[in-house]
Amino acid sequence: MKKKVAIVGAGMIGLCSAYYLRKKGHDVIVIDDHDGYGGASVGNAGFLCPSHVVPLASPGIITQGIKWMLNEKSPFYIKPRLNKELISWGLKFKKAATAEKVKIAAPFLHQITTASQKLAEQLLQDEKINAGYNKNGLLMLCQSEKELHHEKEAADIARGFGQSAEVLTPEEVAKLNPGLDLNICGAVYFPNDTMITPHIFLREFQKVLKANGVEFMFNTSINSFEREKGEITGLVTSSTTIKADDYLIAAGSATSPLLRLLGLRLPMVGGKGYSFTVNNPPAIPQVPSILSDGKVSMSPMMDGLRFSGTMEINDLNSAINLKRVEGIVNTATSFLPQFKKSHFTDIKPWAGFRPCSPDGLPYVGKSNKFSNLTIAAGHAMLGITLGPVTGDIVAKIINEEPNDMDLSLLAVDRYN
Ligand SMILES: Cc1cc2nc3c(=O)[nH]c(=O)nc-3n(C[C@H](O)[C@H](O)[C@H](O)COP(=O)(O)OP(=O)(O)OC[C@H]3O[C@@H](n4cnc5c(N)ncnc54)[C@H](O)[C@@H]3O)c2cc1C
Repeated sequence: MKKKVAIVGAGMIGLCSAYYLRKKGHDVIVIDDHDGYGGASVGNAGFLCPSHVVPLASPGIITQGIKWMLNEKSPFYIKPRLNKELISWGLKFKKAATAEKVKIAAPFLHQITTASQKLAEQLLQDEKINAGYNKNGLLMLCQSEKELHHEKEAADIARGFGQSAEVLTPEEVAKLNPGLDLNICGAVYFPNDTMITPHIFLREFQKVLKANGVEFMFNTSINSFEREKGEITGLVTSSTTIKADDYLIAAGSATSPLLRLLGLRLPMVGGKGYSFTVNNPPAIPQVPSILSDGKVSMSPMMDGLRFSGTMEINDLNSAINLKRVEGIVNTATSFLPQFKKSHFTDIKPWAGFRPCSPDGLPYVGKSNKFSNLTIAAGHAMLGITLGPVTGDIVAKIINEEPNDMDLSLLAVDRYN
């Protein structure tokens, strides 16, 4: 049956959902409170990485996190404060950070990241989208033997799932990146990871969706919901009420506050990250990389070299903390001898929020309180990677089709 579906959020998750819903013949409207470039899907590192299957909540992260918390320039920071929701999220996070829980989450994450990468390739090809798709893999560049040892362990885990992973010497890395000097002791290479230029992808994808009949309403915030007898009956904006048969909330880190208006609880915090793009870098790597000791991503994009990093759990405050930007610049210059501080003087720092669930798995599924409400959020560090598979799952749910994957780990009410 053809339905009218209203999607809140024009980020990677909302757009991919719109795409697969439209392919199934539904009428789709996407509503966003910005111009379509206001969320995390714009300024991220762009990696599609099936190699990274260990969720943030994993053994050892708490001790490491506490060490990092003492330094404002470190890659991970939780602003200490007495907030009931943050404390409750932290306790759930701690509960999920066990070897047993990771053993369950990792194979599933591998299944969905791999499926998503295939769907992304199909989508880019079918729609002829040029978003700088880079198939050169991902390098985890290490300066210390300790970090390299840690990355080798991660490589063993990825190999356990059938992913290729190679340990490389600095000389071998240099062959992959001609002309780029690196101050490293070695690296782990995941040849099957890929990358897009996310802001260009969003722009081109929006064009495709519009051409296929998806309607967009930008600069329109959803302020409340109309509901009746266990169903949503309208989305209330400042100027109008949008009526549909089915509703999808894909509002990234704002999903939780939005759902609270419906009395629904979705434990989630915003993991703030920063990025900036150097438009005329002194050298450009061929292979997307993570400067592992500093947890900084280095992404060769269509319009420059983007550095991104830090995970700062605070309230959804998007103000730029220059100390954290400086931390990223320091990591970049220490790995890349050709880069001087002067190469970073004109950068325009961006900040965005990774929507983080406590167990590192997204929430994708139907609400058990409202029969025509679907939720897709909480993709944390993997929203670009997982966009296509999420869109496919959402479209099947709303189309009332079975899914051959077991989706119980994604249940939206798993913390109720
Ligand atoms: C620094 C950084 C680097 C990252 N690198 C990677 C990476 O390499 N690979 C990867 O897979 N992932 C990466 N991520 C994570 C990824 O960016 C996110 O998981 C993903 O973008 C989330 O997409 P989304 O569509 O759920 O949310 P968003 O992109 O945030 O979109 C949500 C949209 O909803 C809108 N909205 C919110 N509230 C309302 C409302 N009330 N009414 C109307 N509209 C509303 C917002 O304006 C926004 O446009 C990174 C994130 C960061 C911060």
